[in-house]
Amino acid sequence: MNNFQYIRTTSTKAAIDAVAKDPDARFIAGGTNLLDLMKRGIVSPEKLVDISRLPLNKIEREASGVRIGAMALNSEVAENAFIKEKFPLLAQALQAGASAQLRNMATVGGNILQRTRCHYFYDTSLPCNKREPGTGCGALEGNNHMHAIFGFSEKCIAVHPSDMCVALAALDATVLVSGPTGDRKIAFADFHRLPGDKPHVDTVLEKNELITAVTLPDSPFTKNVHYLKVRERASYAFALVSVAAGLQLENDTIQRACLAMGGVAHKPWRLASAEKALIGKKVTEATFRQAAEIAMQGAKSFEHNAYKLKLAPNAIVQALKTAAGIA
Ligand SMILES: Cc1cc2nc3c(=O)[nH]c(=O)nc-3n(C[C@H](O)[C@H](O)[C@H](O)COP(=O)(O)OP(=O)(O)OC[C@H]3O[C@@H](n4cnc5c(N)ncnc54)[C@H](O)[C@@H]3O)c2cc1C
Repeated sequence: MNNFQYIRTTSTKAAIDAVAKDPDARFIAGGTNLLDLMKRGIVSPEKLVDISRLPLNKIEREASGVRIGAMALNSEVAENAFIKEKFPLLAQALQAGASAQLRNMATVGGNILQRTRCHYFYDTSLPCNKREPGTGCGALEGNNHMHAIFGFSEKCIAVHPSDMCVALAALDATVLVSGPTGDRKIAFADFHRLPGDKPHVDTVLEKNELITAVTLPDSPFTKNVHYLKVRERASYAFALVSVAAGLQLENDTIQRACLAMGGVAHKPWRLASAEKALIGKKVTEATFRQAAEIAMQGAKSFEHNAYKLKLAPNAIVQALKTAAGIA
C-alpha cells in the first residue's frame, strides 16, 4: 500500500473542502471496502479524509418517512426499533450482509458506494475496464459465474454487490448529497449507473460530493416482506442472486408490491413491470410465477452464469411466497 496522508474532520463543510482541494483525496468512512482496495493497489489516494466522526449518524423519523444519516452503521440501522417495525425489509437485507464485525464498522454511505466484487476488478494482473479503462473485460470470456444477466455492456459485466441497496431500491429511497456547490437529492433508482462505455463510473455522485443521508418514504410494506439471499455458503458471502420482496395485502389480494433483485446487474435491479403485474391479483404460486417470468424478460447469460436464468425467477417466487406467508 502506498503512503498516504490522513486527516479527520469534524464538519461536513470541512470534509468536502478537504476533498475538493486535492484531486487525490478520498473520503473514508468505516474503511471496510476502501482499505481493501488500497491494500490491493486498485486505488491509491494520497489523502484520506476521515468522515466517520461527522454528526451524520442519526436515524430520525420524518413527517412522512425516515431519514438515515450516512454515518449510521449497518448494524445500528438493522437493529433500530423503528426501522424494524416500519421498514423490516431494510433490516432483513442489512442482516444478510457481511458479518457482525463488518456491520459494526460499515456505514450506510460506504455501503452504497462499495465497489464490485468481480475478481477481474480485484486482480490487478487481469484486464478490467472498471479498474483500468481500455484494458478490456476479463470476465466477458473468462470465469463469469457471478456476473450480470441484465443491463451489462461489452465493456463490463460486473454486478453491484450490496444487500442493503436492493432493499433501498425496492423501498424508493432518495440519496441526499452535499458538495462544494450545494445540496442535491438523487432518486435511488438514478444513483447507480449501468456500465455502458464508462464502467469505471459506478454512480452519478461527483468526486467532491458527500452522501449525508438516505431518506425513505412511509412504506405500506411493514408486514409481508422478505429478503432472500442465495449465496454459495451460509454466511460471509456475496449474493449470487438476492430478492427484496414486499406485499401490501387485503385478505389475499395484492394491493401493492415492491420488488428488486441483487447480484444480477451493475446496479440494484428494480422489477417495476413485475410489481405492476402483481397488483389486484390473488396470492398464489401461479401469480408469483407469472410475475417472475415478467421480471426475467430481457435477461441474458454468459458461459458460466446460465444457472442465474433459473435461479433468479425461482428466488423471486420463493421470496414472494415467504412474504405472503404461503411458503
Ligand atoms: C469480507 C467482506 C464481506 C462482505 N460481505 C458483504 C455482503 O454480504 N453484503 C454486502 O452488502 N456487503 C458486504 N461487504 C461490503 C461492506 O458492506 C462494505 O465494505 C461496507 O458497507 C462499506 O462501508 P464503509 O463505511 O466501510 O465504506 P468505506 O470503505 O469507508 O468507503 C467505501 C467507499 O465509499 C466512499 N464513501 C464512504 N462514505 C461516503 C460518504 N458518506 N459520501 C461519499 N463517499 C463516501 C469512500 O470514499 C469509498 O470510496 C463485505 C465486505 C467484506 C470486507
